[in-house]
Amino acid sequence: MATREAILHADASHVWHPYAPSRANVAAAPLVIARASGVWLEDADGKRYIDGNSSWYTATLGHSHPRVVRAIAEQAKVLAHTAFAGITHEPGALLAEELLASLPAGYSRVFYTDNGSTSIEASLRMALHYWQKAGQPKKKRFVALNSAFHGDTLGATSLGGIGHFTHVFGGNTLECVHVKSPADGHEAAFAHIARVLKEESDSIAAVVVEPLVQAAGGMLIYPAAYLAELARACEANDVLLIVDEVFTGYGRTGTMWASEQAGVTADILCLGKTFASPIPMGAVVVTPHVSEMFVGNREDALMYGHTFCGNPLGAAVAREVLSIFKEESIVASLPPKIEKIRNAFFAIKGARPARALGMVAAIDLGDGGYLGDLGWRVYEEAKARGAYLRPLGDTVYVTPPLVIGDRELDALLSIVEESVRAVTG
Ligand SMILES: *Cc1c(COP(=O)(O)O)cnc(C)c1O
Repeated sequence: MATREAILHADASHVWHPYAPSRANVAAAPLVIARASGVWLEDADGKRYIDGNSSWYTATLGHSHPRVVRAIAEQAKVLAHTAFAGITHEPGALLAEELLASLPAGYSRVFYTDNGSTSIEASLRMALHYWQKAGQPKKKRFVALNSAFHGDTLGATSLGGIGHFTHVFGGNTLECVHVKSPADGHEAAFAHIARVLKEESDSIAAVVVEPLVQAAGGMLIYPAAYLAELARACEANDVLLIVDEVFTGYGRTGTMWASEQAGVTADILCLGKTFASPIPMGAVVVTPHVSEMFVGNREDALMYGHTFCGNPLGAAVAREVLSIFKEESIVASLPPKIEKIRNAFFAIKGARPARALGMVAAIDLGDGGYLGDLGWRVYEEAKARGAYLRPLGDTVYVTPPLVIGDRELDALLSIVEESVRAVTG
């Protein structure tokens, strides 16, 4: 096995990391993670860290869940990959049926993608093509929220409401109207979006929202009432509603789906992250309203697809994930953990009161936003104490695996508290 030094040397010489300069002026050595199991990441020296953000919200069932590992091994032996064009297979077909059964009523068809961004990308194309087919080709703008994050393809970037992620691409993106975030006051925000929908519906294809939590925007939380009202306004103004459950899906907000708290079935729902984790795969789920528009012959097709869409390994894992949620009553086990997280965060002193929903809690330590430094100082403190606590600038948050045990959760929350105190005094 390569030594820690050899790995770091190869990495520093040749690797370009996400959201990072190609080569950093001030080199902060990355953690060298050798293995992960349950809520624990273990580095090359055997030091262990609690995974405070579930590795970008994917290790929702913990790392290397034995049932998921078995599903991958068994599927790999039988059918690891085949194209999904003119071909189907058991995991791809049965997953669609089982996924629809787990979602709020009204969805009827599943389109597979590679990840969260391509789920969003596919949904935007469906919306644009839908209005072409409906004889309203002028409906081609999108509406998204300030502070939104929907992924990193150019289509998804167009919807992004965090300037730091999007500004250098201005002029090369789809036309998108950004409206007030409901996290800054949901009534004023609803009045704003309702006005835009009413006045500009003849040029708007769809509204895209993260339901209840704007994740990368700083774990900003808003009430379900906004989403419920938004769904009614979209319907009244003949605008499609796309909900992005890439982060919120699979129990993160305390219910299996965040949109179910608002009683909302959107026109299109996007999935990724936990969906087939740890295999990169996503899905777009639509109502008949959308899918019926694409019924017919070759010329009616949605011209969109990815080489690995419908990948049998991913589909087998996605089925296992759904089955674990059901058989291990994952969502029903959450309330005591949710309460612990909430209490711990509300006891921390930040620049503003903390916020929490389900298995998400966050606190802003300053006003530096995404480029702020305070969260990074807490990150270093937490690392020394045995937790991986990647911040969003000045925002410190936790989104732990839902299967985290009581003792592990207590340990994580103590580390958060101590690390924040070490930085803010
Ligand atoms: C992470 C994320 C995406 C993008 O998913 P990728 O798998 O990184 O492409 C889209 N929407 C939301 C809400 C996300 O959190």
